[in-house]
Amino acid sequence: MVQVPSTQIPGVYHRRIGDIVVTALSDGYLDGTVEVMQNIAPAEATRMLADKFRSGRRTSVNCYLVYSAGRLALIETGSGDYLLPTAGKLQQNLKAAGVNPADIEAVILTHMHPDHSAGLTNPKTGEKFFANAELVVHENEPRHWRDDAAMNRADDRARTLYFQCAREQIAPYHNQTRTFSGEVEVFPGVTSLPLHGHTPGHSGYRIASGDKSLLIWGDIIHVPEVQVPRPEVTMAFDTDPQAAAATRRRTFDMVTADRQLIAGMHVHFPGFAHLVKQGDDYLMLPEPWDQGFDG
Ligand SMILES: [Zn+2]
Repeated sequence: MVQVPSTQIPGVYHRRIGDIVVTALSDGYLDGTVEVMQNIAPAEATRMLADKFRSGRRTSVNCYLVYSAGRLALIETGSGDYLLPTAGKLQQNLKAAGVNPADIEAVILTHMHPDHSAGLTNPKTGEKFFANAELVVHENEPRHWRDDAAMNRADDRARTLYFQCAREQIAPYHNQTRTFSGEVEVFPGVTSLPLHGHTPGHSGYRIASGDKSLLIWGDIIHVPEVQVPRPEVTMAFDTDPQAAAATRRRTFDMVTADRQLIAGMHVHFPGFAHLVKQGDDYLMLPEPWDQGFDG
């Protein structure tokens, strides 16, 4: 009898960037309503999704390992068990990739939202998932999420899901946190790029080796089917929606002009793609699977 598969293969994909290897790890996906999108009527968003054969808003959650100069870093930790059971798969995919979390020297965050930072710490035991890692993040992030005045201004959901979660998740890393601002080489070949707006310290990371480079752009988009053609569409959870939209457009223009390879936390897994401009319209071209792993 032929054994019919009943579970998906692990969400692991390697990509060479010069001498650096970047491994995409899926944390899973999050399905949600279109109502969180702003500057667009829900019916219009639903129509745009349906035109692309999507029955609703599905957001991939990706994390990226960086193997550079004999060292290992992880960009983002996924959502742990804070959100939906369709996500929180980082640890199982790390295992499938043959990685011991204790070997990760640095956990680098684009920002502190639960789909990025809730995989840092086990909420039940308070234990770190990455025993030996330094936590690397833009200085505005812990500052904002630890700000009691900002927390009091937030609604109940944001207070628990964002502020409380961020505080709990980073607490065990208190003595191993390195903050930065601006453009800094945070790990060999990995340089931060301020892309503020979605959150106050939201940052991308440019990975460069020789003449090859990749921009991991964090949350420049959450819903590719809608926000690539309509960069003005913002999300209810953008800290500063206007700044988020301006940063998105600026980033789109930069990566199209530079023909820059990008990867995104919410670009469908594994999330490597180029963006091109056709007239006034942007178009996303996901990279094909590279079985040769040639880069
Ligand atoms: Zn996100």
